Amino acid sequence: MRSLWNNKEAAQCSDDLDLRVYSSRLLGREPSLVLHGGGNTSVKLSEKNILGESETLLYVKGSGWDLESIDRPGFSPVRLDHLIRLADLEALSDPQMVNELKTHMTVSSAPTPSVEAILHAILPFKYVDHTHADALVTITNTPDGRERIDRIYGDDTVIVPYIMPGFDLARLCAVEFKKQRSVKTIGMILMNHGVFSFGETARESYERMIELVTRAERYLETQGAWKLAIPDVSVADTALRQKLAPLRRALSDAAGAPMIMHTRRVAQTLGFARRDDVAEISQQGPATPDHVIRTKRVPLLGRDVRTFAEQYRAYFERHAPRAREPKTMLDAAPRVILDPEFGMACAGRTAKDAGIVKDIYLHTIDVILRATRLGGYRALPAQDLFDMEYWDLEQAKLRKTGAPPAFTGEIALVTGAATGIGRACVTSLLARGAAVVGLDRNPAIETLHAHADYLGLLCDVTDASAVEAALERAITNFGGLDMLILNAGVFPQSRAIVESDTDQWRETLEVNLTSNLVLLRSAHPLLKLAPNGGRVVIIGSKNVHAPGPGAGAYSASKAALNQLMRVAAIEWGTDGIRINAIHPDAVFDTGLWTPDLIQARAQHYGLSVEQYKKRNILNVEVASRDVAELAAEMCGALFAKTTGAQVPVDGGDIRVI
Ligand code: ZN
Repeated sequence: MRSLWNNKEAAQCSDDLDLRVYSSRLLGREPSLVLHGGGNTSVKLSEKNILGESETLLYVKGSGWDLESIDRPGFSPVRLDHLIRLADLEALSDPQMVNELKTHMTVSSAPTPSVEAILHAILPFKYVDHTHADALVTITNTPDGRERIDRIYGDDTVIVPYIMPGFDLARLCAVEFKKQRSVKTIGMILMNHGVFSFGETARESYERMIELVTRAERYLETQGAWKLAIPDVSVADTALRQKLAPLRRALSDAAGAPMIMHTRRVAQTLGFARRDDVAEISQQGPATPDHVIRTKRVPLLGRDVRTFAEQYRAYFERHAPRAREPKTMLDAAPRVILDPEFGMACAGRTAKDAGIVKDIYLHTIDVILRATRLGGYRALPAQDLFDMEYWDLEQAKLRKTGAPPAFTGEIALVTGAATGIGRACVTSLLARGAAVVGLDRNPAIETLHAHADYLGLLCDVTDASAVEAALERAITNFGGLDMLILNAGVFPQSRAIVESDTDQWRETLEVNLTSNLVLLRSAHPLLKLAPNGGRVVIIGSKNVHAPGPGAGAYSASKAALNQLMRVAAIEWGTDGIRINAIHPDAVFDTGLWTPDLIQARAQHYGLSVEQYKKRNILNVEVASRDVAELAAEMCGALFAKTTGAQVPVDGGDIRVI
């Protein structure tokens, strides 16, 4: 591990808190030190209060902030004196502790201070850094971890046996620190948990962390337990979606809500899942206890979700009676699945959650493999992990958002999604919490949105093999398919029937009709597995009911698609799949319309562009967003008992009515 400290960057910091922000971010940049909200840092500063009195404040990381992106408001100022006095109490419950932390902050809008705040307070150094470094937890999670730590650090660190984070840990650390501290002490090792470093400057504390972790890494190296060869396994590229989608359905059933499932079929995960000893080494527990919140205690081996759920229930019933207060069981679905065919799948209520599980478990695999080389991986006993998993304060962190958006955990696919109505559909579905796959032959599709919930794929929907590949990507990325918005379409140049061009006719039917048949056929087995029932929305056209001259190919293709929708509604009802159509008209903010074309049509009717755009009974302009919002609603609860329906979004048209 190398220090990322840069004097030039550090010189731009205006004060000690700025330096705290700077070196916290340096820690956050290294995923083998901290992952997703793990770790915390602090600085003790003297300030004048509103009465002009001087007091020392502990600025400690607030919960909900990641070290990688933390900023000044991410640190909560708490009165240091009070924290130090708290550490002398015999006992303090977790809710009491949080109450004390919150009521002794000097900024009422600051985030809730880290539950490790008292621990930071009792360490008599200006800067304190804490990480769950991979190398440290690798060594401490072995049968003779304690002796190894003694050998590596000697008197340079205080060593604290495992105890659950919170007040009891702070108190134990205070005792052990007083007992073990020497002039050489630069840090503190928390067995099976992580490491603290401290110093009088931001740089000193940070570089001591790097030094302590580097020593652990070097030790692993000398023991032949550092370098991990890439496993020699063949990574097939055979289709997996018919196997993954039923697994995701089983996960969702066990969880009681739709789940996102992200699959990682690479040499690292396949190699791990195929090891002869995988049943032993993977069933020990997480590398550091707070991972249990994300990953659960152990992964599912293979695909028997039901047995996993039964075992999870038994684990709960075994440990819950011993807890201090009554516990409510969390859902019984696994979060990590190891399988010799697909490597690893990670589950979460959102794509972001599943991504966090993936990041954590990829690190866990390496920790387990190195510890195994060192003499055996041994995580904490199940009771300790249960206490962490069911810790009120940790559960509160996950519960902090209210009811999730309607489509949380569900996956939608939208065709023609780079522009106009399709693009608006992506936005409407994302806003309702769905993970969305957008297809388009416009390369802009790939970068439409830059977050975990979105996957944009370059795909010509008339190319059946490209569509198959897109479905495969969608399912390996998100686990299944719940909603399908068939929007891609072309509006060919106007031609009277007598002047019609057979190639143009064929091409129009290919895009607007046949490609949808192919996609519907391929998507059916996936939609059938949707936990809340599959939903399809066809973006039709006013022309279905009110065709115009010169639009033979377009009108015929959309009318045929509409009829296909009606047949699908009849055929697929017993599979729990609903399919409905929307007939928009005069939506001008789409790829089909150019300003010139709008101008020409307006002129044709002897109207201004403005008048032409509102040429309907309600005298309103219809935008892509209006169509998209209806399409999204049609996938939701309002339309739960509607299939085979057609709804116009056209401001009212006398010929349609
Ligand atoms: Zn910690």
